[in-house]
Amino acid sequence: MTATPTRAALAWEYSPAPEATDHIRLAERYELFVDGGWREAASHQPTVNPATEEPLAEIGWAGEADVDAAVAAARAALPRWRALPALERGKYVFRIARLIQERARELAIVESLDGGKPIRESRDVDVPLAAAHFFYYAGWADKLSYGLAGRRVEPMGVVGQIVPWNFPLLMAAWKLAPALACGNTAVLKPAETTPLTALLLAEICQEAELPDGVVNIIPGDGATGAALVRHPDIDKIAFTGSTGVGKDIQAATAGRDIGLTLELGGKSANIVFDDAALDQAVEGIVNGIFFNQGHVCCAGSRLLLQESVAEEVVEKLWRRMGLLRVGDPLDKNTDVGAINSAEQLERIEALVDAGEREGATRRTVACALPERGYWFPPTLFTDVAPVNRIAVEEIFGPVVSVMTFRTQAEAIEKANSSAYGLAAGVWTDKGSRALAVARALKAGVVWQNTYNQFDPTSPFGGYKESGFGREGGAAGLRPYVRVS
Ligand code: NDP
Repeated sequence: MTATPTRAALAWEYSPAPEATDHIRLAERYELFVDGGWREAASHQPTVNPATEEPLAEIGWAGEADVDAAVAAARAALPRWRALPALERGKYVFRIARLIQERARELAIVESLDGGKPIRESRDVDVPLAAAHFFYYAGWADKLSYGLAGRRVEPMGVVGQIVPWNFPLLMAAWKLAPALACGNTAVLKPAETTPLTALLLAEICQEAELPDGVVNIIPGDGATGAALVRHPDIDKIAFTGSTGVGKDIQAATAGRDIGLTLELGGKSANIVFDDAALDQAVEGIVNGIFFNQGHVCCAGSRLLLQESVAEEVVEKLWRRMGLLRVGDPLDKNTDVGAINSAEQLERIEALVDAGEREGATRRTVACALPERGYWFPPTLFTDVAPVNRIAVEEIFGPVVSVMTFRTQAEAIEKANSSAYGLAAGVWTDKGSRALAVARALKAGVVWQNTYNQFDPTSPFGGYKESGFGREGGAAGLRPYVRVS
């Protein structure tokens, strides 16, 4: 007699659930936001939708003269802005937060169009968190000395801020909100592949009637960023991006009396002990590495599994990975969207090839991918040696490298055996173990039984080659003030 299956296998098929874009009005061409108005750029470059390779708009790129003009506008705006009663300054920051909320749907769609991330993430994570950062720092504006142990505080002055392409609006919010609340004026350079939401934020600054020159937004490439860093009239640089560029910036600012914060790359360990709730851990592993296609500085890209449960976790993870929906970022069912650019896709492919060449075992989810655009399906490597490039270098894509450990001490040693130290995850049922491991990890953020949780009240930043300085929370005020 054959056994009757207790449960019929369910084959779910989702109907497409595309987010409408007909209400989005992008201009054909955007210029530079300088001194409260639009300054014509000398050159323009298209910004491209990575899911279709279609151009979205022409973007003005700032040259040296434009960087000069933006810094001069920020300098001219500084005396009045810093002299404004702190409560009034806070109201402007608050108003920006409200306007982000009002334009949330538009911002989410444009973020997904320009960057390739799933609409579910831009709608539920990027945009609400960006608004939350402005709300949070609006509240600090008139309480700065309370946040800084009662000391007398003054703004740094004119701050140059350079942000990457993985969280364009959110990174702009992380940088601008504390800077403005502390009385600084700012020049922000968005990444060349994702300038659009920063330019919409410029419109929001206008709507909020922010005084001219307080915020200046100048898209461009690395040369624009380098010109901003080297500008002699800048009082502080805040940078998020690759460790290589971070090192160049540190060298370029050496010997100058300016503030510097660097939020750089990572190769974060996600550690699963055998007493963890494994199904919950698998969800956390998926969120840790496939959120935003793995284009996340704190992605849990090194998965450390206790040997006794390693096989079981890998099988559960592999099964779960097969359920991820890869494709149109604007479809509300999509879990993994497009890779941000052709260059980033090449980098991911090169590192994945290196992983195979070095002897690791690769499993890549077989899924239908759109014909155009840049895509990389979720990928899992086992049999990874700690010296393999895929265990050492930041891949910045949907690729997880699995390694095993036997004891708690070995887990800590392996997790800390990295040039980076941005974040980590610890999955265990024992609170005492979670605390002991967290204390021993050289990582700026340690999540317990969760991953990739962000909140404006909690500081974020790295150890070692992941950079220095903190963004978020009261600690995030410190880089934007001089204390006496
Ligand atoms: P970059 O570090 O080159 O880019 C980050 C920002 O810095 C961008 O706005 C970029 O402009 C700007 N920039 C580039 N060169 C200079 C310079 N010399 N001086 C000042 N600013 C500069 O990162 P990539 O975009 O090239 O990505 C490369 C790798 O970096 C990724 O594969 C990933 O591993 C890592 N990365 C890490 C991030 C993180 O959050 N930790 C974020 C992004 C990347 P432009 O966009 O025009 O190049």
